[in-house]
Amino acid sequence: MRRDSYKKLGDAIKKAKRIAIVTHLNPDGDAMGSSLGLSLYLQKLKKEVKVIVPNATPQFLAWMPDTKRVLNFQTDEKKVRAYVDKADLLFVLDFNSFKRVERLGDYLREKDITKITIDHHQQPEALAKYYLWDVKACSTCELVYDLMKGMGHVRMLDKKIAACLYTGLMTDTGSFRFPSVNHHTHLIISDLLKTGMKHEDVHGAVYDTYSRDRMRLLGYALNKIQVLPDNKTAYIALSEAELKEFNYQRGDTEGMVNYPFGINGINFCALFMEWEGMVKISLRSKGKIDVNKIARAHYNGGGHINAAGGRSNISLEETVERFVNVVSQKS
Ligand code: 5GP
Ligand code: MN
Repeated sequence: MRRDSYKKLGDAIKKAKRIAIVTHLNPDGDAMGSSLGLSLYLQKLKKEVKVIVPNATPQFLAWMPDTKRVLNFQTDEKKVRAYVDKADLLFVLDFNSFKRVERLGDYLREKDITKITIDHHQQPEALAKYYLWDVKACSTCELVYDLMKGMGHVRMLDKKIAACLYTGLMTDTGSFRFPSVNHHTHLIISDLLKTGMKHEDVHGAVYDTYSRDRMRLLGYALNKIQVLPDNKTAYIALSEAELKEFNYQRGDTEGMVNYPFGINGINFCALFMEWEGMVKISLRSKGKIDVNKIARAHYNGGGHINAAGGRSNISLEETVERFVNVVSQKS
């Protein structure tokens, strides 16, 4: 954990005029919530701010405030470069290795600009001058709230910022059920609710807006759950052909990896998705099983102790076969 003083962070913000905020590939609720929440806050401090994503925001987050201003490096690379080349502060949010944002990372790594990492993942790279890094934080949104509080600016929270931060807090904690949730989390929620933000609207916008195809894909995937009872493990593997059958859109498998926990006794879940020539892997665990370690060791990935991801460049079948071996070694 490294939490540089709010004085240092505040001074860096005060000095800056033009600020860029970048978040991770396949941005999720916490990535977008923390980036947009921070951006709205910094705009209230009269800064010029842009949020940059390595690839598109998924549809289930398109309702979030200010998403129309977000620059997508895949489709707006020129605009991203034009903006960042003249920026004087870069926030790196909800990830901690430039490898994680691929080509955008190669560009940002070389940029001679003050960088601040706000993140809660394991094993950060030394990529920034200042850090608000705490693996105990349930979400990066929690840390953005802490920054506002540390700066003496909780009163600057408004409904829009609150909706952004609530989104990340909610999605990264499985709607407040993971062990990362504590009294501090709920005190933050209390401050967010005081703005008049409607938590039921945020929940509905994120979770009750499935397309029919997405719901049908979920049903199909649940039918395909494989259980390894000796290893208390369950997994789902979906091929590209299967995904296409359900007209797969990015974001459609968000949260799917957690469903097998509903089976009594399961403490390790995995989701394998074949897409565009590789297999994307999501791992989730309960208790002491360290999936960050497993993702780093086998899947060129990383994350948290109980939630991590990565990828494999061999076939889906072989990836699953090797996974079954890894799991049997673990137990
Ligand atoms: P998900 O399974 O939802 O894609 O990701 C779970 C967690 O692991 C998230 O916190 C995410 O940031 C992290 N993660 C997912 N994929 C990767 C990856 O390829 N590399 C690293 N370092 N982290 C990942
Ligand atoms: Mn997060």
